[in-house]
Amino acid sequence: MLLKNSKIIVIKIGSSLLVDKNREIRNRWLSSFAQDIKKLKSNNKKVIIVSSGAIALGCKKMNYDKANLKLDKSQAIASIGQIELMNLFSQTFSKYKINISQILLTLEDTEERRRSINAKRTFENLFQLDYIPVVNENDTIATTEIKYGDNDRLASRVAQITNADLLILLSDVDGLFTKNPKIFKDAKLIKKITNFNRDIKNIYIKGKTEFGSGGMDTKIEAAKICNLAGSNMVIANGLHLNPIDQIDKKNNCTWFVSKVTKLDARKKWIISSISPKGKLIIDDGAKKALKNGKSLLAAGIKKVLGNFKKGDHVKVLDKKGKEFARGLSSFSSDEINKILGCHSNEIKKILGYISKSEVVHKDDMVKI
Ligand code: GLU
Repeated sequence: MLLKNSKIIVIKIGSSLLVDKNREIRNRWLSSFAQDIKKLKSNNKKVIIVSSGAIALGCKKMNYDKANLKLDKSQAIASIGQIELMNLFSQTFSKYKINISQILLTLEDTEERRRSINAKRTFENLFQLDYIPVVNENDTIATTEIKYGDNDRLASRVAQITNADLLILLSDVDGLFTKNPKIFKDAKLIKKITNFNRDIKNIYIKGKTEFGSGGMDTKIEAAKICNLAGSNMVIANGLHLNPIDQIDKKNNCTWFVSKVTKLDARKKWIISSISPKGKLIIDDGAKKALKNGKSLLAAGIKKVLGNFKKGDHVKVLDKKGKEFARGLSSFSSDEINKILGCHSNEIKKILGYISKSEVVHKDDMVKI
């Protein structure tokens, strides 16, 4: 039902679906996937594909082992493999008369508001032109500090930016289990998660595949982002032929049902930030004020952690270190260090120039 009711659907494919353990391309699978996409299109769904595989295909072509690759080498390998990846898609999808385009994103493209709006517009224009965007991280220039590093979180950010109704993470496992299914025979597949924080406590989430970068932990991170952005998410085993059809017919997967959120697009973007640059620790009085819908003032800040600029994403933590809100800081970390604990009307004198009186304005803040 959740699949049928979704209009905009983001589908993420892991490398292990495209390339098997013997490094053979899974052509039959990709054709069956293209058939699924054709069907979704005929039901008027707008589809975005997020596909890994640049590094896996680059390694295949160059006969390299991914495990031994250093970052700079893997960037070159990704550049070689990305063309292989798109060729593969283009050849297979053209047989089904599906048009595809390529979008390569870096972390800043979703973390900076203006760039994320730009990306959204490009996605919308491609829908209008009847092209299916195939997205990957721009691995050729991303360095570790400014990298998603896994396409699970990248896909969730794409889902959030495009206001998608559903994110499908096609993996090589059926979904989220109560324990590690590779070790414990009595591990049970969890079919539905409706209360995110309650339902995933004490669940096994470690485990990586040979080629992919994401394990279950990055999928949970992706689910968190979708949950707050108002998109549903499903983790399903993509190894079967016609993997989307299988979700529809067998439903042997894990659904994450988002609590309906009334946040506007800007606030959804704030809350979904993957890489907040710093933390503000606040006192109880400020916490109470924030709860009542007020802005965060310098007087209530006890400590600043991290180095950030004006306008950067920050986490707001209470005295116990519990994340309480996220927002955009109106001051740099250096400035906040000078004004914390002070009354707002002292700021001008301390800094020597006029500035805002709120450190995080209520319109730039989302409580968690
Ligand atoms: N962007 C990487 C690639 O195309 C994959 C990242 C991941 O495995 O999630 O190879």
